[in-house]
Amino acid sequence: MEYQTLLEAIRNCKECRERFDHEPRPVVLGSLNAKIMHISQAPSRHVHETGYPFNDQSGETLRHEWYHIDDEDFYDADNFYITSIGKCFPGKQKSGGDKKPPKICSQLWLNKELDHVGNSLYLIVGRDASDYFFKNEPFIDIVMNDQTIRGKPAFVLPHPSPLNIKWFKDHPEFFNDRLPKIRAYIHALLY
Ligand code: SF4
Repeated sequence: MEYQTLLEAIRNCKECRERFDHEPRPVVLGSLNAKIMHISQAPSRHVHETGYPFNDQSGETLRHEWYHIDDEDFYDADNFYITSIGKCFPGKQKSGGDKKPPKICSQLWLNKELDHVGNSLYLIVGRDASDYFFKNEPFIDIVMNDQTIRGKPAFVLPHPSPLNIKWFKDHPEFFNDRLPKIRAYIHALLY
C-alpha cells in the first residue's frame, strides 16, 4: 500500500463505529520523511473535537515543558509523524479516565505505518503505547533506558497527563536525569 493511500485509508477508517458511542475520527499527522515517529495512546476528547493531535493540556506540557520545541516545529510534517496505537478517541470510562484504545486499531494500522515512515527516532508516549512494544519490564526501567524498535533508537516517556502526577512525584529521576537526554537527542535531530 502506498503511503498516501495508507494515510487516506487510516483517516477514512470507521472500523470502530459499533464500538464507540460517537463517530470515529482518526487523528494522524505527518509525512513519510518525518525524522521522528511519535506514538502515543489515543486522542483525548479535545483532540477528537479539533482533529489536531496533542492540541490539549497534555500536548502543551509535552511540547513546551518537556521537549522545549515550539508548535511550528512540532506540527511540521517533516519533523514529526504523530500517531497512536488507537487513532480515535475511545470514549470515557465511568471513573472519568479515557477508555483503552481498541486493539483492532494497532492490528490494522500500526505495522503498516512502521513500514512506511523513514524516521530516525521513535518517541513512545504513555504506558499503553509502551506495552505494545515492550511488555516484560517495569515501566520505569523502560523509561530510564535506551530502547530500540526495528533497529532504530526509541525513547519511552510517561504520558504527560496531569492524571499521572503521582508517577511524576515518585520518579523525579525522569525529570532530572532522563528528560534532558531525550530533549537533547530531539534537538540534535531537528536543529
Ligand atoms: S480507532 Fe482505529 S480501527 Fe477504530 S475506527 Fe479509529 S482508526 Fe479505525
